[in-house]
Amino acid sequence: MKGAQPLADEHFRDELSNVDKEGKRLWIFAKKPNGRFYNYRTWLSWFFMIMLFAGPFMKWNGRPLLLLNVLERKFIILGMVFWPQDLNLFALLMLSFIIFIVLFTVLFGRVWCGWACPQTIFMEMLFRKIEYLIDGDYQQQKRLADQDWNSEKIMKRTFKHVLFFVLSFAIANTFLGYIIGIDELKLTITDGPFAHPGKLASMLIFTGVFYGVFAHLRELVCVFICPYGRLQGLMLDKNSMVVAYDYVRGEPRGKLKKTEEAPKGDCIDCKLCVSVCPTGIDIRNGTQLECINCTACIDACDEVMVKIEKPKGLVRFASVNNIKEGKKLGLNLRNGAYGVVLAALFGVFLYLLITRKLVETTLLRTPGMLYQTQEEGKISNLYSIEFVNKTFEELPIELKLIEPKGEIKFVDGKNIVVDKESVGKSSFFLILDAASIKKISTPVEIEVWSNGKLIEEMKSKFNGPVFNPNKPKEEDSAEQNEDSKEKKHED
Ligand code: SF4
Ligand code: SF4
Repeated sequence: MKGAQPLADEHFRDELSNVDKEGKRLWIFAKKPNGRFYNYRTWLSWFFMIMLFAGPFMKWNGRPLLLLNVLERKFIILGMVFWPQDLNLFALLMLSFIIFIVLFTVLFGRVWCGWACPQTIFMEMLFRKIEYLIDGDYQQQKRLADQDWNSEKIMKRTFKHVLFFVLSFAIANTFLGYIIGIDELKLTITDGPFAHPGKLASMLIFTGVFYGVFAHLRELVCVFICPYGRLQGLMLDKNSMVVAYDYVRGEPRGKLKKTEEAPKGDCIDCKLCVSVCPTGIDIRNGTQLECINCTACIDACDEVMVKIEKPKGLVRFASVNNIKEGKKLGLNLRNGAYGVVLAALFGVFLYLLITRKLVETTLLRTPGMLYQTQEEGKISNLYSIEFVNKTFEELPIELKLIEPKGEIKFVDGKNIVVDKESVGKSSFFLILDAASIKKISTPVEIEVWSNGKLIEEMKSKFNGPVFNPNKPKEEDSAEQNEDSKEKKHED
């Protein structure tokens, strides 16, 4: 019956395409894809790979375009430096990115996995292609795997795995370039391998991981390890656009015979869509967690449809409702809500980014000290000040005391100069005339200037004894000294 639901038998959900009944892994020999979508993917993948390999070398005003130095907690995105102090911004950016991915998945399924994920790009466009070149297409690969070890098998295996290892090493170095920066990476290479044992170890560990992923784990990463893949069930709904088999048109499936008694569906059960699948599933069973939307089955089926003179698109990008009820793909309430949240998050992120301070100052009265009595009846407080210079220029710092009237004196007698992209610290005394102290805790206002520009206005408190004009000066001074000694003793 044309249009019947083919999913009544759901036994496939209890089994994995790459695991046998004893629980042993079944190696997937995927047929070499060919077709319109494969060509688009190839071009796009080359573009991504060129960008990815060239990325660590790309600079903006002498700085890397992208640096994710998790070790020193320093991140540069599109030439903008994010420090640990910008954690709120970074967290918001990551949150927006996650919501973007969720929204994108709700609308377009796992397109990211098949078309933009580095795992798929490297696997399908580099490692798998090398395999086709050395071992041949899927049937030859199967034969080679099943045959006993002989000189041909040893040569092919050695050649292939040496190439895999070299490629993994290149990818590992590229990723390391994004973490430590290309200049550091060059130094690690030119200084000899043992001058930087930590970095050499990271290089080898990354190489080992990539080799393990691309030579052995392969589709297991997409099916079992990747958390994004595991979350598909939560994100997809009946309106999500995914790679889908049109069972309304395709069923009942059956081999093509010249003398048909009853009308059959368009699927001729050739299983080419299964042979090309890199995760080994049968898309005719419906949407499955293992499907990475690589579209290889669309190309395979379109080729068959052309041969049997039926319209293309038996397997195509479509939603469940699109196939079942002929509904057009469109927005629903959930997608709209995600969009609003994403726009709001992005708006907040942009606002924080635009208003973010390039120099951050922290002013603290030195803990454990109250006040000191200086010569000529002056009273001082000791402060610590810290500057985070996120700019790419050295900054000479000048402090101006706005309120109350007094003097700022640096402990080491030097003015502060903060190196580019670094943190500068100093301590200074704020000295006031005893006669100007009218409260135990006097509000203080200090401006931070650099190169003639006001950077920040700081507020703090000044602690000191309240001046009493009726007290004799010696008594006052003696009392203050006692008081000061007492305070220091307390410290
Ligand atoms: S490739 Fe198309 S015709 Fe062949 S089995 Fe798959 S869905 Fe059916
Ligand atoms: S079912 Fe089709 S789109 Fe999904 S992973 Fe397999 S070949 Fe790719």
